[in-house]
Amino acid sequence: MEKNYDLIVIGTGPAGEKAAVKAAYFGYKVAIIEKEKTFGGAGVITGTLPSKTLKETSLYFSGKYEKAAFGIEHSPLHKASLEDFMYRKNQVIAIVAQEIRENLQRHGVDIFQGIASFEDPHTLAITTNEGTKSTISGKFILIATGSYPYHPPQIPFDNLRVHDSDSILHINHIPRSLCIVGAGVIGCEYATIFSAMGTKVYLVNDKESILPQIDQELASSLISQMHDDGIEILFNTTIKSVVTPKDPEAPLKVDLQSGRVLEVDMYLFAAGRSGATKTLGCDKLGLKFGKREFLEVDKEYKTGIPHIFAAGDVIGFPALASTSMDQGRVAVAHMFQMQDLEHLPSFFPYGIYTIPEISMVGLTEEAMLASGTPYCCGRARYADMARGRIMGAKNGFMKIVFEKEGLKICGIHIIGHLATELIHFGLEVVESKLTLYDLIGKVFNYPTLHDLYKYAAYDGLSNVSGHKIKP
Ligand SMILES: Cc1cc2nc3c(=O)[nH]c(=O)nc-3n(C[C@H](O)[C@H](O)[C@H](O)COP(=O)(O)OP(=O)(O)OC[C@H]3O[C@@H](n4cnc5c(N)ncnc54)[C@H](O)[C@@H]3O)c2cc1C
Repeated sequence: MEKNYDLIVIGTGPAGEKAAVKAAYFGYKVAIIEKEKTFGGAGVITGTLPSKTLKETSLYFSGKYEKAAFGIEHSPLHKASLEDFMYRKNQVIAIVAQEIRENLQRHGVDIFQGIASFEDPHTLAITTNEGTKSTISGKFILIATGSYPYHPPQIPFDNLRVHDSDSILHINHIPRSLCIVGAGVIGCEYATIFSAMGTKVYLVNDKESILPQIDQELASSLISQMHDDGIEILFNTTIKSVVTPKDPEAPLKVDLQSGRVLEVDMYLFAAGRSGATKTLGCDKLGLKFGKREFLEVDKEYKTGIPHIFAAGDVIGFPALASTSMDQGRVAVAHMFQMQDLEHLPSFFPYGIYTIPEISMVGLTEEAMLASGTPYCCGRARYADMARGRIMGAKNGFMKIVFEKEGLKICGIHIIGHLATELIHFGLEVVESKLTLYDLIGKVFNYPTLHDLYKYAAYDGLSNVSGHKIKP
């Protein structure tokens, strides 16, 4: 007999897990369908957590952690093997995937293993690996199937030496040299991770700047630190072809539009993702798609069919684990009229886990300039903070962007050790529309890197008044 649910969720990534658990917590009968044996989607298996763990591992083995945290030049005890590099990542995936399964079970969510596809607007078929098929039906359905790496047809992906951001997690050796295409978040993160592991990295970028969404003063700082670390960024060019030789020891030949030919050990294509909607058969329901198979939804995360919702990467921007979780929760709030979470907040932080880290909230200087609002900036360097001196910090800074009139803080940008942690106070500052004077009125633990906020505020006041104000 077909089972009926209040809610069926497709996918156990950040959006699906949090939505299913929330609905079950409030007493609704919930089912979740997952095609993979390991739970967690890109958040746990192929994206967020593996890449962040590899970053920490590469910091440790390269001695860069000691350099960032204590200013000590430290030679690693031994050269990391592939097993060393992958060990912690594999552990984290296994632990967190199991936690997700247990969280779903603890909340009484029925788990179905297999590929979900629509039979009709309320009924989903579940096809197992063995080919058996069953159906379940739901009053509401949440599509939380995520995204997958885009594969341009001219790139000969083989998951051995020519990789996307999924298969790079299963390399069979640490590459001597690596060509990465795409200087977005994923490309820049892997460039700094592999460079820290001793790989010669070439980062191919079709524009003249990297990470267009961040404040370009920080992007320039990252470029110069990447350069110091030996990463070669090839601007304003793209790939013509990649040729894989028969001999596994011979180099790959990467032909660039600029005319340059790179000979490298490995290749990573990290430029773009598409919505994972192909296997769902939702086109027969008449759901609307945007670019690259992303589903279109309204501000309640409802598709064109009122009881079918979609959240997370499958709807495109901002495509973060952090926002996907809350999109799932907001969708559930609207389905069951819970009125506890109407929408995502207007401000959320971006974290880029490059070495060094970058994090931001609010408007960049470029956005302020484009808005036409008179603005000014204040800056503070890690090296000038007492905590920074303890750390022996050489690089890293905070930049505050604020309105000239009224001194309201509109954006906070940090590059340096622990930037993704430090930003959360900045989130509060921007969200609460605090001014430079509000900021200098705060007392922080001393010595901490939070002093950056005060020093950047004083610097901002100096820049507006033209007088140097010493904090
Ligand atoms: C390399 C990389 C690094 C990243 N780093 C960060 C970061 O630092 N911070 C951050 O916030 N975000 C980061 N992200 C983004 C983050 O991983 C995603 O935004 C997030 O995982 C999206 O969650 P989701 O639930 O929408 O989809 P996913 O996590 O992709 O989960 C979708 C799930 O649906 C399942 N599924 C798909 N189709 C079907 C089907 N037909 N039937 C059954 N199951 C199906 C999949 O198997 C998967 O388990 C990163 C992504 C990548 C690729």
